[in-house]
Amino acid sequence: MHPQPNLIDALDTLSPETLIAWDKTYVWHPFTPMKQYLASEPVIIRRGQGVKLEDIHGNWYYDGTSSIWLNVHGHNVPELNAALEAQLRRIAHATMLGQANVPAVALAKRLIEVAPPGLQRVFYSDSGATAVEIALKMAIQFWANQGWRSKRYILGFTNNYHGDTLGAVGVAPDPLFHWPFLDLLPGHPRAPYPYPHDRLAESLEAVEHVLRTRHHELAALIVEPVEGAGGILPAPAGFLRALRTLCDRYQVLLIIDEVATGFGRTGRLFACEAEGISPDLLCLGKGLTGGYLPLAATLTTERVFEAFLGEVEERKTFFHGHSYTGNPLGCAVALASLELLLQRLPSLPAKVERLRAHLAPLSEHPFVAELRQAGFMVGIEIVADRARRTPFPYGAQVGFIVARHARRRGMLVRPIGSVLIFMPPLAATEAELEEMTTILKAAFEDALPELERLAQNLQPNV
Ligand SMILES: *Cc1c(COP(=O)(O)O)cnc(C)c1O
Repeated sequence: MHPQPNLIDALDTLSPETLIAWDKTYVWHPFTPMKQYLASEPVIIRRGQGVKLEDIHGNWYYDGTSSIWLNVHGHNVPELNAALEAQLRRIAHATMLGQANVPAVALAKRLIEVAPPGLQRVFYSDSGATAVEIALKMAIQFWANQGWRSKRYILGFTNNYHGDTLGAVGVAPDPLFHWPFLDLLPGHPRAPYPYPHDRLAESLEAVEHVLRTRHHELAALIVEPVEGAGGILPAPAGFLRALRTLCDRYQVLLIIDEVATGFGRTGRLFACEAEGISPDLLCLGKGLTGGYLPLAATLTTERVFEAFLGEVEERKTFFHGHSYTGNPLGCAVALASLELLLQRLPSLPAKVERLRAHLAPLSEHPFVAELRQAGFMVGIEIVADRARRTPFPYGAQVGFIVARHARRRGMLVRPIGSVLIFMPPLAATEAELEEMTTILKAAFEDALPELERLAQNLQPNV
């Protein structure tokens, strides 16, 4: 008997027109103005190979966003496929509530071996936002379990991004995106992030002021080592170390959100290694599985963990979990990805410098205010007037103008507001990085006439 063609192979026979019609009829896309999307020619990906993606028309594109900051080793990686397939033959999922599974146990041990010293326990979840929710709740309950009910606020930083669940939004509200929800948020205090870097002292003073006056009601401080979604703004050297010292002085836990920066993205395994410090809670996601499956983790210390030990009726338990917590497929592929990344790490600094050299000419572009790079994270800020740093209006969507030209030339990139974000997979070779930056530079050139027209229309209001 001939095997039936399987359901997924059968999808290859669907025409582009059918897939586009289904997409526009049935799907609601994340972070996407759908009115405009429905009027657009969508990209629907059919397969990936290395650092490239193929759409349903057979066009190949460089993955210039690492599929939104996740991808580490490229697509369709033999080692990761093999790990996934091997695990699939054993079991796809079994709950972690009150029991364990083999890959989740092995990955926890491996993560702790490579994580900043002092971290000792791994709590799994399924996205960066949930890794952050868990860190926030753990921090608050850590104090509550010891009788400190007042320590329930979290100090965050302006323009940091921690995910889209309400708890994560609560520590990083953005009036532009979160306006319907602002009234529902707990009103956590915030301090200015030290960017530009000459604001370091001002930022630390603000942090210390909040800590000094409110430490009795602060459970933790949460910070991104590089503002990712805030536009790729790296913190200055010494910032994380200073936060570590201040948090210790005022008895507040330090949460570092490395969902974006973790797993080699800044050129090191974790960004906080550069400062030689360890947080009390470390949030990981995105690159954890190399960009294969939704898996996240919150790492913490034995000190935090021990505060949750007690008799059942004391209710010190962390009553938090997700249906897919510690998913074995995700953990298996994460194990394989981590080993591959450890082999790859020594090659990263040279690539980061090549990338810097290739990108440098972009800082001369008449509408580029600043070119920012932290390892494989690049933000190119587009402004109407370089000298005065006048921004284009939000509605002009200038980042999307450049992204559209890049797409036509064979690379997918995605802006955040007026910042074009370029985030190549770590596996990109030096030759591929050069090709990708060549496309990016050409896209900025292509966009010049449109940007000039938009800037001219702005003049009367300036
Ligand atoms: C992407 C991101 C998150 C949220 O992760 P999701 O998997 O999208 O929920 C949290 N923090 C940072 C720093 C991120 O970049």
